[in-house]
Amino acid sequence: MKKLFLFLALVAQLCAHEVINGTVAVLELDGDTQTLLKESGPLPLLAHPKDPNKRIAFVAVPYRHSEAIDLVRIAGEKQELVRLHVKQGDYKQETLSVDPAHVSPPKDALPRIQAEREEAMALYATFSPTRHWDSPFVLPLQSAITSDFGNARVFNGSLKSFHSGTDFRAPVGTPVYATNDGVVVLAKERYYAGGSVILDHGEGVYSVYYHLSFMPHPVGTRLKKGEEVGLSGATGRVTGPHLHFGFMVQGVPIDPLDFIGKINALF
Ligand SMILES: [Zn+2]
Repeated sequence: MKKLFLFLALVAQLCAHEVINGTVAVLELDGDTQTLLKESGPLPLLAHPKDPNKRIAFVAVPYRHSEAIDLVRIAGEKQELVRLHVKQGDYKQETLSVDPAHVSPPKDALPRIQAEREEAMALYATFSPTRHWDSPFVLPLQSAITSDFGNARVFNGSLKSFHSGTDFRAPVGTPVYATNDGVVVLAKERYYAGGSVILDHGEGVYSVYYHLSFMPHPVGTRLKKGEEVGLSGATGRVTGPHLHFGFMVQGVPIDPLDFIGKINALF
């Protein structure tokens, strides 16, 4: 595979795109595309939601990624190098003071935290081939954004992580709605995220809703876009009530508003 990339870098026609770290590139491909190769292997070619003569493909770019990503598009005899230049997002740094128990969790909480992380990663790594949605995505509620995706987070003076979603102002008990059709694949109380619901939208796309105070739907429930996922709350590692909303694509947390914007632009 490596050789093929080197060869193509020299001779094939180059098609370049720019993508910001922590976002997903949504590539529109001609219908004759047979394979889209990444160094790790072929990427799934997905139906275009509007145009039956096109396909789309997702390339999720991790927050901590900075190198260009090379892809090879194969259509019959034609092989084309598609280069994604990764531009660093203009992300802010924010400082938070929270309960020390949640910054350096007590030892006896570590197995639970680890188990919850592994459970979620296994879900996100699952590729359900059926797409559940066929219309544009919507926001889970209409409210002010209190923290953007990608903010570098400094808890009690030490850099812990980056913000993996978008926070919306939401007093406890505010209805939270499904961003699009999907299946509930997780609905439980977790150490960091509190009351958590994860929806599988198919094709490796998951939306997440955290810190909920009420989660009425068991795993396996099919929700329509705009149906109530639950009620907002202040559960888990929080400084106050709000909704944390996020998307995971190909197992990578990406900017949910950017993703919604890119998908909706296809319609
Ligand atoms: Zn958040």
